[in-house]
Amino acid sequence: MPNVGFLDTKSAMEQSDLISRTQAAVWHPCTQMKQQIATPPLAIARGQGVWLYDSDGRGYIDGISSWWVNLFGHANPRINAAICDQLEQIEHVMLAGCTHAPVVALSERLAQLTGLGHAFYGSDGASATEIALKMSFHYWRNRGQADKTEFVSLKNSYHGETLGALSVTDVAIFKDTYAPLLRQSAQVMSPDWRLAEVGESAEQYALRAAQDLAEYLAQHHRRVAALIVEPLVQGAAGMAMYHPAYLTRVRQLCDEFGVHLIADEIAVGFGRTGTMFACEQAAIKPDLMCLSKGITGGYLPLSAVLVTDEIYGAFYDDATARGFLHSHSYTGNPLACRAALATLDIFAEDQVLAANRSKAAYLEQAVLPLREHPRVADFRRTGMIWAFDVLGAGVGFARDFYLAALEQNLLLRPIGNTVYFMPPYVINEAEMDQLVSGSLIALRQAIGEI
Ligand SMILES: *Cc1c(COP(=O)(O)O)cnc(C)c1O
Repeated sequence: MPNVGFLDTKSAMEQSDLISRTQAAVWHPCTQMKQQIATPPLAIARGQGVWLYDSDGRGYIDGISSWWVNLFGHANPRINAAICDQLEQIEHVMLAGCTHAPVVALSERLAQLTGLGHAFYGSDGASATEIALKMSFHYWRNRGQADKTEFVSLKNSYHGETLGALSVTDVAIFKDTYAPLLRQSAQVMSPDWRLAEVGESAEQYALRAAQDLAEYLAQHHRRVAALIVEPLVQGAAGMAMYHPAYLTRVRQLCDEFGVHLIADEIAVGFGRTGTMFACEQAAIKPDLMCLSKGITGGYLPLSAVLVTDEIYGAFYDDATARGFLHSHSYTGNPLACRAALATLDIFAEDQVLAANRSKAAYLEQAVLPLREHPRVADFRRTGMIWAFDVLGAGVGFARDFYLAALEQNLLLRPIGNTVYFMPPYVINEAEMDQLVSGSLIALRQAIGEI
């Protein structure tokens, strides 16, 4: 390993030093810092494939792809090489008034993959949500329908945590405190199949949920600019999964009532659900699609909003103010675009979607002992996402499971009583076996069985 100067923290003493320094100087995301005293963060020194290594050299399988971003492992040689090559050319230039080969090539390839011909860039997922909401509103305004100012989302939806994105998010712990700052938005029934009645299929339930949207739009469509959905899997809700029939029906309803459909594929895009984009499983095309997370293989912050020619055309005009005057400083960053292009190359060269189907089939078998545990309920899978709920889990379950999993060399972070696996696609069979057997031990420990 090269000498990395002040980051070179080899001894256990330096590891604990790093933790006290992080505690003093770093305000960690999504964390009550006082609780971090009792549960200190992992100090990660390096990564390789699905493995993360702390400064003592102990390895952990990154079972949640570092918050759902990593696709092809840490320190992937092909992505590393692309970024290094780009570094020698141009690291960054503003995208207003300038362009560059990586952003052009990436936009062309995303257009080919999605059938949505124009790409607008941001940095994080939440900025993509903001862009999509503003664009939808502005589209209707440019088309003479300025009173379409409202947005609809699903119950338990998650679209990011900046104020606009939080307005369409429906997760109480993130939202309630800031409620006075947020715009009103409407939430309609979630198609999450766990909520189906006994004897009702996932598809029937999805169609019943769509009926709730139909009723809402019948009444309010004149004021509604867009519906925003997480296609197939509501991630932050606890990997709530649903039948694609919901999306097919919702596409019809949006067309019927003149409302945009925004597909937030930030978490589910790039092969996570088994197809390149989740919308493909319902054979629909959204009006706007938000992408981020896996787009760079988990290397660099980048997001994109892809739109139809119809939307793009509504902004194309002599009047400056009819244009989309929105920007972020790092929009279309060349290094991030090169990482994204390398990621797309890997998809094509390694036939990743097909390879993932065999991996998923293997894990589906390997997971049986865990699945059959009497406290495991609603075991579910969509593509490369597995989840189950733990019956009778106490308040401290997520933390207890997380700690017990670390002991098994696994990095897993349950959402409430939902345990999920969302591994990098490069995971091999031995690693899948370890993920399952370690999780079973962690589960039994966290519920006090052993
Ligand atoms: C993570 C996520 C976001 C927000 O992305 P950030 O990069 O964390 O801002 C938005 N929507 C969905 C569905 C997500 O999973």
